[in-house]
Amino acid sequence: MVIGFGPCGIFVGLVLAEMGYKPIILERGKEVRDRTKDTFGFWRNRTLNTESNVQYGEGGAGTFSDGKLWT
Ligand SMILES: Cc1cc2nc3c(=O)[nH]c(=O)nc-3n(C[C@H](O)[C@H](O)[C@H](O)COP(=O)(O)OP(=O)(O)OC[C@H]3O[C@@H](n4cnc5c(N)ncnc54)[C@H](O)[C@@H]3O)c2cc1C
Repeated sequence: MVIGFGPCGIFVGLVLAEMGYKPIILERGKEVRDRTKDTFGFWRNRTLNTESNVQYGEGGAGTFSDGKLWT
């Protein structure tokens, strides 16, 4: 079982899948589309959702990187 779907969780999930496992990955935050709204809501309007922000959600903090992590 993998906890967190940030870059590390995504990568270890990929490696395990390539090894033939079917890893269960648990992520506490929201999916990217909803999370992006919450994150920009904080950056623009200072409305903080403590469960959905730049740190918590699908993709982890890497979702808002400049692209180095994505490639
Ligand atoms: C604002 C910002 C900008 C950045 N920009 C760049 C950049 O431009 N280029 C770059 O290379 N790096 C950048 N970084 C750094 C990069 O994003 C991090 O080094 C990277 O995301 C770390 O990956 P990780 O998987 O270890 O952790 P995280 O990305 O933090 O992922 C952890 C995941 O675990 C989840 N989680 C936490 N607790 C629990 C729980 N109890 N149960 C289930 N899930 C849980 C979180 O929701 C999250 O999705 C940036 C970081 C920040 C904060």
